[in-house]
Amino acid sequence: MAHILDSALDAVGKTPLIRLDRIAEMHGLKCNLLAKTEFMSVGGSVKDRIAKAMVEAAEKDGILVPGQSVVIEPTSGNTGIGLALTCAIKGYSVIITLPNKMSLEKEALLRALGAEVIRTPNVPWDSPDSLIEVARRLEKEIPGGVILDQYRNVNNPLAHEWTTGPEIIEAVVSTPSTPSRPSSGKVDAIVAGAGTGGTVTGLSRAVKKHNKDCIVVGVDPKGSILALPEALNLESAGKPYVIEGIGYDFVPGVLVQKEVDSWIKSEDEESFTAVQRLMRMEGLLVGGSSGSALSGTLRWLKTEEGSKLANTAGANVVVVLPDGIRNYMSKPWFLKLAMENESTPLRETIGKILGKK
Ligand code: PMP
Repeated sequence: MAHILDSALDAVGKTPLIRLDRIAEMHGLKCNLLAKTEFMSVGGSVKDRIAKAMVEAAEKDGILVPGQSVVIEPTSGNTGIGLALTCAIKGYSVIITLPNKMSLEKEALLRALGAEVIRTPNVPWDSPDSLIEVARRLEKEIPGGVILDQYRNVNNPLAHEWTTGPEIIEAVVSTPSTPSRPSSGKVDAIVAGAGTGGTVTGLSRAVKKHNKDCIVVGVDPKGSILALPEALNLESAGKPYVIEGIGYDFVPGVLVQKEVDSWIKSEDEESFTAVQRLMRMEGLLVGGSSGSALSGTLRWLKTEEGSKLANTAGANVVVVLPDGIRNYMSKPWFLKLAMENESTPLRETIGKILGKK
């Protein structure tokens, strides 16, 4: 990006692919463990891409009319932030329905970007008070109201098929294999969490065109029902979980579960530990679902299917890190892991110098 950009929209995506060498070494992996750092997108998440794509497609189709349309969207926050940012630049009003579970930081950002935010109770998706039903009621009554509908909009998976996937492939293909850093020259496996499922479905379509043998792994939290085979979901169906942005109680239209080769169920605690490792060992300021994606990746690499790649020098295993920790700084789970610090030798030395414990 060595030139002047026309607006923040030109800084959507184009995120770095970064080696997680220290974590790979800790787990005895021979493959390359590579992170697609979506929190470096301009609005701070993987969802900037679909917000831009959905708005631009709707403008082209005449669905959004400047000065008239009001963009309404149910979201766990990041699509809302992407939409609010896009609409701030383009001049549309925005209303976001956001479940109570989602962080204060997301609501504050949405409001700062000029959006109206309606908090909704954590109820089933088809209940009259759910984020989806409240958005639908508003769309009916508000003149110019339009729901772009990330759950069904083809531009959601397409944004990943056309941008996220090709960026990953280009980074892998254009990095030469050297004796100290061997590479197969292709993406051998890719792991992404599923919320709407747009990321994992779109990425699957992109990587299979590039390498038909690439293994696509989806990560779905315990308590959600997006994984296959369905038996995987049964033991934990309906269980509450803290991680935001992944998992649903219905299968969104854009998620084609069968285009995902393997599913891993994630849990809160292992996700928090993985977030801490990504920060402390790799310097990456990631959010909770990035921890789920990484812990899911590490668990999959221990399965029969995954361990073949784990033990292959030069195999490229990519994990998508969807958003950043700045979305979650007030959450108790973050404050706990931030303050937990076992580096006591230094602390003792400081204590001696300053005369404090
Ligand atoms: N992580 C976070 C933090 C998200 O906001 C989302 C989007 N809901 C995802 C993961 C999953 O992305 P997708 O909707 O493309 O499945």
